[in-house]
Amino acid sequence: MTASTTLEQSPIGVGASIINVYTARGSGQPLEIMAYKVGPLGDREVEIKVTHCGICHSDLSMIENEWHMTRYPIVPGHEIIGTVSALGRGVRSLAIGQRVGLGWQSGSCGGCEWCASGKEHLCAQEEWTIVGRNGGWADFVRADARFMVPIPNGIASADAAPLMCAGTTVFSPLAHYGVVSSMRAAVVGMGGLGHLAVQFLAKMGCEVTAISSTHSKEEEARQLGASRFIATKNSDELQRAARSFDFVLVTVSADIPWQDYLGALRPEGTLCLVGIPESDLKVPPFDIILPERRVVGGRAGSPGDAARMLHFAAQHGVRPMIERFKMSDLNTALARVREGKVRYRAVLEN
Ligand SMILES: [Zn+2]
Ligand SMILES: [Zn+2]
Repeated sequence: MTASTTLEQSPIGVGASIINVYTARGSGQPLEIMAYKVGPLGDREVEIKVTHCGICHSDLSMIENEWHMTRYPIVPGHEIIGTVSALGRGVRSLAIGQRVGLGWQSGSCGGCEWCASGKEHLCAQEEWTIVGRNGGWADFVRADARFMVPIPNGIASADAAPLMCAGTTVFSPLAHYGVVSSMRAAVVGMGGLGHLAVQFLAKMGCEVTAISSTHSKEEEARQLGASRFIATKNSDELQRAARSFDFVLVTVSADIPWQDYLGALRPEGTLCLVGIPESDLKVPPFDIILPERRVVGGRAGSPGDAARMLHFAAQHGVRPMIERFKMSDLNTALARVREGKVRYRAVLEN
């Protein structure tokens, strides 16, 4: 036995001595492999042996420092699935060998009113998995046990990976803003987020309309549960859908004609953004005041939200459509994601 391998030798409190990661040293740089030494595991930390990790558009934004908060060298990857390989001495909630997921958030204060009410993602001291710490494009990852979410047996690890960010990003707002089965819902954008949102809403019993620029994804959207489809390019289909929807989930990261989308809401309807538009929002005040409409933001919620989303996905057969790549083919996979060729999520496998 050598001192560098971990699992069989010392499951409690120690963990790996060396972690291999894929890292970008600057904007526009290819990812390269790097090994770094780590010390003993913290009392509340868990180490997982990464089996799968998704590629999310936020990883690309972080690699390119689009949000001006990247610290290089960055190790991306925040749709992480693995098995517990070592436990901190104070961790009672998980067991060695258990399958868990880690998403966008990796830490919070643990003591504020938001943490105490199970809304850790609203904590002022939340820590993000790929900001100032190392993400899941790696062989091992460490984080606070509170953010490691058990994966239900019915969900394969490759499918579970995109659920850890894309899945919970679209599922959490449906719960937070009270979407119920009697509602007419629309999903804007048929990509990694949108194709999951259509499934969640359909399985919740809502009437679902998918909205995309062209009709090219209509058949797929209908197979996933949409009963209507609206194409916006060179058409007035959206304008003709005025006062149609109780809840519109915008998954695209683009400037879209907000007035038309507000107009598509029924009175008391909600327009919820999970994609990030390029420009600040400008909405006509009367279009929200008179019909009492709401414009809100949504995001991947707490570990509790992720657990509820996974339970729902297992129960109702909600699964991402994925393309698989070896972790070592990371740069090839990234290029495909950048070119928008992946339908609909890329997953890296160790
Ligand atoms: Zn993400
Ligand atoms: Zn807190």
